[in-house]
Order: sequence, then structure tokens, then C-alpha cells
Amino acid sequence: MDIGTVVRDSGSTIHAKKSGWRSTQPLIDYKRCTSCGWCWAYCPEPAIRLEGGKYIIDYSFCKGCGICAVECPLHCISMVME
Ligand code: SF4
Ligand code: SF4
Repeated sequence: MDIGTVVRDSGSTIHAKKSGWRSTQPLIDYKRCTSCGWCWAYCPEPAIRLEGGKYIIDYSFCKGCGICAVECPLHCISMVME
């Protein structure tokens, strides 16, 4: 096994859904979102992806940490109680 295989296997969260960890969920205000991708860059899970020119949240992978809301430069992500 080479080092690339070790890092990829130990670091991937793509098969671990996190929706059960959450008490709050992020909501994007698309009226203000400029699709800059900052939230995608900071999200520690595979929970934000670009689809049709818009960044969308996949809630099955979102753990509700709120990092995206803190890092959005336009403050257009709100964390709301579930
Ligand atoms: S960081 Fe904010 S403005 Fe940028 S894509 Fe995400 S929600 Fe939109
Ligand atoms: S709350 Fe955390 S896990 Fe969910 S989309 Fe935002 S940064 Fe990613």
C-alpha cells in the first residue's frame, strides 16, 4: 500500500453521513449569494457542492458545525434550529 492510498483511505468522509449529529442547519440566502465558493472551501465535510452554478448543501453530510456561516463573506448563511 503506498502513502497516497493510506492518506485517501484514512481522510475521506464521503461514506460517513453526519445528519444525525446536527441540532442546527445552514440555510443559504440565494438572493445575496454570489457563488464565490468560500463556504465550499471551508466546509470540513463533503456537504457543499456546485450544481448548476449554485452552491447547495447536502444535508445528509452536513454536521451543523456552522463554519460555512462564519466564513461566508456576505453573511448570507444562517444557522437555524431543526
Ligand atoms: S460563501 Fe456565501 S456568498 Fe459565497 S457561495 Fe457560499 S453562501 Fe454564497
Ligand atoms: S454547517 Fe458545517 S458541515 Fe454543514 S455545510 Fe456548513 S460547514 Fe459544512
